[in-house]
Amino acid sequence: MNCLRLGISKNFNYLTMECRRLHLLKSQAYINGEWVSAGNKAVFPVTNPANDQLIVEVPDMDATDAQNAVSVATNAFQTWKDTTAKERSYILRKWFDMCQKNTDLLAEIITAESGKPLAESKGEVAYGNSFLEWFADTARHIDGEVIQSPWPNKQIILTRQPIGVVSIITPWNFPFAMITRKVGALMAAGCTCVIKPSEDTPLSALAAAELAEKAGVPKGVINVVTASRKNAAAVGKVMCEHPNVGCISFTGSTHVGKILYGMAASGIKRVSLELGGNAPFIVFPSADIEHALDNAMLAKFRNNGQACVGANRFFIHEDVYDQFVEGFKKRIGQKCILGPGTKEGVTCGPLINKMQADKVSNLVNDAVSKGAKPLIGGKFATDIGSKFYESTLLVDVKPEMNIYGEEIFGPVAVCLKFKTEDEVLKVANSTRSGLAAYVFTKDLGQSFRMSRKLEFGMVAINDGILSAAEPAFGGIKESGIGREGSKHGVEEYTDIKYTLFSALDK
Ligand code: NAP
Repeated sequence: MNCLRLGISKNFNYLTMECRRLHLLKSQAYINGEWVSAGNKAVFPVTNPANDQLIVEVPDMDATDAQNAVSVATNAFQTWKDTTAKERSYILRKWFDMCQKNTDLLAEIITAESGKPLAESKGEVAYGNSFLEWFADTARHIDGEVIQSPWPNKQIILTRQPIGVVSIITPWNFPFAMITRKVGALMAAGCTCVIKPSEDTPLSALAAAELAEKAGVPKGVINVVTASRKNAAAVGKVMCEHPNVGCISFTGSTHVGKILYGMAASGIKRVSLELGGNAPFIVFPSADIEHALDNAMLAKFRNNGQACVGANRFFIHEDVYDQFVEGFKKRIGQKCILGPGTKEGVTCGPLINKMQADKVSNLVNDAVSKGAKPLIGGKFATDIGSKFYESTLLVDVKPEMNIYGEEIFGPVAVCLKFKTEDEVLKVANSTRSGLAAYVFTKDLGQSFRMSRKLEFGMVAINDGILSAAEPAFGGIKESGIGREGSKHGVEEYTDIKYTLFSALDK
């Protein structure tokens, strides 16, 4: 581990303490089983969003480094694809074991670079790890089919073959789990990969790679290219357009997803896109309101609202609106404790960066200037740090306000009143996003109707959390293409090959 080049002496104690504690801290990229610098030796800083302090500098790689990484992954694919499913399963299981054993160390890295509370970081490690465990099992069930032949003396078989090198581009909000969810699946299928994590959170990716190496993942199967935001487009272009890349697997904003999809199109490449959401959270009068409120807290304030499946619009039936809003305000006041993620008792950390913090603040200011009312919160908590935003509840929100239609991606809950099922369905579906939706009702028929009619890839009835390794995670409309987790997660990284065996009587 390279500790910091400590420029400012007053930071010395803090930084050395942080370095000593972060055992899985890496300061180089990982290519072909080696820890390496950028070809041109450039670096960029990774900072802690809770206090803006430098954690470490990592290589600022460019297009040439990305090309090299794709070549390495291409070579590794030649041998990895021919391993048995049993071998791949065994290695994935060992990686899972390593990550389990190092949960606390991984969690410290996640908290340091993303700001989320340590308890949430541990939850992310458990969640991320569940994909390694799941795909270790799934690897041995990527079966083909023998089809009834329409011809005598001919046999048809379908087999699933690995698609090749996969380019993986991930966001900062779940910097560990967004990687294992993809890499577990593609490794199970027999593919290799190049990962570009976000500028804000490359350290979780590097820590995961370190544990993969210790678990015996062969060199070149996993490669991590670290790059600053300045180089993201150039690196991304290589990762999307290189002829040896078979699939682009991206999690991030719909805006960037569209750019990558465009580049993938030029090479007719497979894409797996997990993009932005705009989840409705709908409460009907028959619901258990206390239960709905507990789940509203999870669906909105997990990861401080920075989750793609986070509830973005709360639609509350007029009969229970006042009760819900009052209970929501009370819970936010009691349960949202702002502070650095390492502090005991903190439940909401900082927002990830200045851009994100300004975006959230601008959405609230725009709404308030047009008549919305914050019942609690509504401003920065500047006494704690530069990126802490108060957990906020807004009412009197109208369609002309930006916050009405945009993905907030922050700790701001917006409550709107509705009268009928048809009305709420219409407004909930009136978005180009279609990732997750939440419905609270005790009416069985209504729960089935909502499940069928909501235009979202995932619908949770009477729950505020739906992510797990077992179900198929993904969106429709502009929220994405493809599914992660479940038995379908592996299919994204395979092609079906049809082989005809003919002249069997000759
Ligand atoms: P983002 O700006 O789209 O960034 C995602 C990744 O793409 C980062 O690694 C980013 O690098 C990289 N990137 C940006 N521009 C690029 C380009 N031109 N070429 C190649 N790579 C590029 O998204 P974000 O702000 O980090 O994440 C928040 C968004 O992700 C939200 O919309 C959220 O809903 C979505 N999300 C979706 C899911 C899901 O499963 N559906 C899960 C989590 C998050 P830099 O960060 O260094 O710029």
